[in-house]
Amino acid sequence: MKTEINGSTLELMTGDITKVKTDAIVNAANGTLMGGGGVDGAIHRAAGKKLLEECKQVREKQLNGEKLPTGKAVITGGYHLPAKHVIHTVGPVWNECDEDQEELLAGCYDHSLKLAAEINASSIAFPSISTGVYSFPIDLAAKIALQTITDFLMTYDFGRVMMVLFSQKDYEIYAAALKRNDRAI
Ligand code: ADP
Repeated sequence: MKTEINGSTLELMTGDITKVKTDAIVNAANGTLMGGGGVDGAIHRAAGKKLLEECKQVREKQLNGEKLPTGKAVITGGYHLPAKHVIHTVGPVWNECDEDQEELLAGCYDHSLKLAAEINASSIAFPSISTGVYSFPIDLAAKIALQTITDFLMTYDFGRVMMVLFSQKDYEIYAAALKRNDRAI
């Protein structure tokens, strides 16, 4: 499913994000940036060891040894991935950060898109952030994701944004949310 927003494209698809050839893919990382399960593990396995090395450098140099805060994003190379770059963002754990969780999830999409724009990327692919181990309800997450992407595309002349959903069920939830998306004109 595809829709045009202000000259850019927003596309939903099913698939494995590690196989997508784009300027950037987004990793639903954890604050340590040291890899983990789910999409994070899949991205690190497919990218190879150098990705972990660069993540360590980012922790030391950009984050002064601290964890990447929830809702924020950093960028690395893509190494063995077909994508040129990986943007690592940390989604909120459902019901762990109280009333801020919706804004924090929107921040993941917004900061990732802005980082992609800073490096002049014109294509980016997102997984469904926070809806795996972090247990964010997927219908609410889909609404926040699509509204945030739409708001960004209304302001920036970007190119192509993809949501790569790992199951048909997830795809259908995002497709229903996209049909209801009142931010798109
Ligand atoms: P979080 O900790 O942010 O919830 P997870 O990795 O547990 O992150 O899950 C986020 C979403 O990514 C889930 O919907 C999961 O099914 C999906 N996912 C897992 N592996 C992949 C993959 N290779 N490509 C795309 N999506 C994936």
